Amino acid sequence: MADVILVLNAGSSSIKFSAFNAGSPDLPLVMRGQIEGLLSSPHFVAFDGKGSQTGEANWRDSPIGHEEAVTYIAQFLRGHRDGNQLVAVGHRVVHGGQGFSKPVAVTPGVLDELEKLTPLAPLHQPHNLKPIRVIAERNPDVPQVACFDTAFHATQPALASTFALPAALTAQGVRRYGFHGLSYEYIARTLPDIAPEAARGRTVVAHLGNGASMCALNAGRSVASTMGFTALDGLPMGTRSGNLDPGVILYLLDELKMDTRGVEDLLYRHSGLLGVSGISGDMRTLLASDDARAAFAIDLYAYRIGRELGSLAAALGGLDALVFTAGIGEHSPEIRRRACEQARWCGVEIDGSANEAGAPCISTASSKVAVWVIPTNEELMIARHTREVAGIA
Ligand code: ADP
Repeated sequence: MADVILVLNAGSSSIKFSAFNAGSPDLPLVMRGQIEGLLSSPHFVAFDGKGSQTGEANWRDSPIGHEEAVTYIAQFLRGHRDGNQLVAVGHRVVHGGQGFSKPVAVTPGVLDELEKLTPLAPLHQPHNLKPIRVIAERNPDVPQVACFDTAFHATQPALASTFALPAALTAQGVRRYGFHGLSYEYIARTLPDIAPEAARGRTVVAHLGNGASMCALNAGRSVASTMGFTALDGLPMGTRSGNLDPGVILYLLDELKMDTRGVEDLLYRHSGLLGVSGISGDMRTLLASDDARAAFAIDLYAYRIGRELGSLAAALGGLDALVFTAGIGEHSPEIRRRACEQARWCGVEIDGSANEAGAPCISTASSKVAVWVIPTNEELMIARHTREVAGIA
């Protein structure tokens, strides 16, 4: 029997959940799972803390809404309670805007403020907030904590966060925020144990998942990142374009007569690795393909990582360490090798066999820059914040 913190990470088409034992200082995982494909063919799967499957369900081509998905997960958890007691729920919320620079206990007023940020992240924020409302209505006594992807970047100087736009627009909040902050925060908190020099020094972290970004850490604090006002900027991603000359958008609107929803759809869902290759937005699929278009998409991906690394190293005034994390960063020696090839100019040298093995340190002894592979854990970061904000001993 244990006190449990539930962490929810609700996206546009999936809800991931993890339950952690709040009674133990290192918050061991009790259960995790997800419902994917909410809008097409929903599939639920759950595992216990040791990785054994504890549940599975399919809705076969009948989409379900986020509310129904949260209800299903809640029912599943009740059925597998094992005497555990839910003491708090932590949520990943993509945007905290200018007002929320750290995790916050959710009140009706906070929720209203977070709703107002929806225009800044229209594809993410409403999905993040929906489960909070559902739980607040059904379990008003359970404390809920919102943890923001933007908050970790609040330490960035104005030079890094300001667009060269009229100051009135900047004052209205049109500025760079940065995302994947819970992942970067987890890495920054983990570095002192694994790589103390990287923790103290100038480190670039590459979070390469379906969404991808890079962050410059100076002594563990975010000083610059590739994502800006929305989660569209920076690196090319699975289906998102990454940075783009804003003139392209004017051209799409004026000359190609696209409407704003069409442009949004193009930039978020049909660009990136998928758009360039015309094959897939999934890196594994591209790496397994012998099609020249897949090879070009991968080349472009590695090239752009190299370009962004140069920019972030310049913002840091040098580079002591490079960290790879998230799906591609943790699992693809090939992409790490290619990205590091792009960074040879600044003294990056990797050890081929350490890279193949995914050893935590993959650089050679003589490399001027230490290169690390560190698995991220955004859910654990949210659980830690939730324990602290909710005041759970
Ligand atoms: P999300 O951003 O949705 O959390 P992940 O961090 O799980 O995504 O990353 C998903 C990406 O990682 C996909 O492009 C997938 O192909 C890629 N990936 C996962 N495992 C491997 C692997 N062994 N080799 C190459 N790419 C991989």
